[in-house]
Amino acid sequence: MSQNLLELKNISHFFQLGEGKKFKVLQQISLELNPGEIVALLGPSGSGKSTCLRIMGGLLKPTHGSVMVEGKPLSGPNPNVSMVFQSFVLLPWLSVYENVALGIAPLDLPEEEVRIRVKKVIDLVGLEGFEEAYPRELSGGMKQRVGIARALVMERPILFMDEPFSALDVLTAESLRKEVLNIWMSKKTATSSVVIVTHNITEAVSLGGRILVMGTNPGHVRVAIKNELPYPRDEKTAGFKSLVENIHDVITEAINPDTPDWIPPAFMASTVEALPPVSISEVIGLMEFIATNGGRADLYAIAQTLGKDFGQILFFAKGAELLDFVDTPKNGIVLTDLGRRFISSDVNMRKKLVHDALLQLKLCQLIREQLQAAPNYVIPHAEVVETIHNLLPNEDSEKQLETLIQWGRYGELFGYNADVQELYLDVGQENT
Ligand code: ADP
Ligand code: MG
Repeated sequence: MSQNLLELKNISHFFQLGEGKKFKVLQQISLELNPGEIVALLGPSGSGKSTCLRIMGGLLKPTHGSVMVEGKPLSGPNPNVSMVFQSFVLLPWLSVYENVALGIAPLDLPEEEVRIRVKKVIDLVGLEGFEEAYPRELSGGMKQRVGIARALVMERPILFMDEPFSALDVLTAESLRKEVLNIWMSKKTATSSVVIVTHNITEAVSLGGRILVMGTNPGHVRVAIKNELPYPRDEKTAGFKSLVENIHDVITEAINPDTPDWIPPAFMASTVEALPPVSISEVIGLMEFIATNGGRADLYAIAQTLGKDFGQILFFAKGAELLDFVDTPKNGIVLTDLGRRFISSDVNMRKKLVHDALLQLKLCQLIREQLQAAPNYVIPHAEVVETIHNLLPNEDSEKQLETLIQWGRYGELFGYNADVQELYLDVGQENT
């Protein structure tokens, strides 16, 4: 069984302000950190990124929700984590070697082991020859190398980096970012997973295997994007550029209060799959586009060609994937055999295929069972909403129901009577 290194379950946090006032800084953050991945928390200042790291590091206890480390609740500092800060926090009276060794000072290791460990990380971060130098003799980039070495020397599986390159000039930041990536890829350290906090989209796209785009007031995850561009990533490629552009769109849209909230489907740990907030015709539209493209397409390219938000395309893709009409291998999206069959079918056959696909979804199964057990096969609106809320507490249950009705109508599985506000079981398909 694979186990998360670290998991945040529905974290919300309030800071106590004066006079009994509370300030909500984080709302319902859920995140799983798997071994071997880099997760980027991307968001504007004040979106609670640093607070999130402090909670994951066990330095701050969240008001609501739980932090799990390898499946057990965390209390106190997280023993699996080491941290690199934005400011270099080096002790000016200690040499480079001594500043690095400080990372493992509390362990009271034999001198020889300290020497071996310190030397190894000093070499890894390119500080060999500077062991005896003092911080004042070092450039900003060199100082941050010391900061990184001091975290790596602790040999912990998770590395947290809180805006580690933002105090550096652009060129230094870029080369150091590459070096950190090389170290991570080389697997020469105990560090398997990295969480990097940044407000720089390019940085998030360069490093993040997953990118959590955060919004403010209160801090929350707007959308979680899986980034499968192969490492090391080349900023000049079309895939890289369009992902940057699309995330930029997500963020600028995030500032627009009129847009509906994003739901991060990838992070809802639940056996019941939430439906993405898209209509069945949008899902079909995406499939037709892929079909005219020879049955396979690139998600970034689709977003660009259709002039849509990348996040929106992800939701269409998620919808089609839930129905088993597409697969989403590396960067791409391909029609499955079922998807191809759908595309070449007439509308009645299409409805039948959607009907059958919906019956595979846990959410539809459960609601269908409830309907079958209800008098006259109807359930009042409020009751369905409550059921959905219990199944998917993190989702907007009204929105889920809206999507369920829309898909269910197409697939002739459910119907909705707006006059009496009741969901009913459509038995049309069973009878034909
Ligand atoms: P980010 O790292 O994304 O910039 P932070 O997690 O540092 O965000 O802070 C999020 C919000 O919480 C900010 O508005 C900040 O002023 C506030 N905040 C941070 N720490 C405290 C604290 N100890 N007490 C009260 N408010 C705080
Ligand atoms: Mg911060």
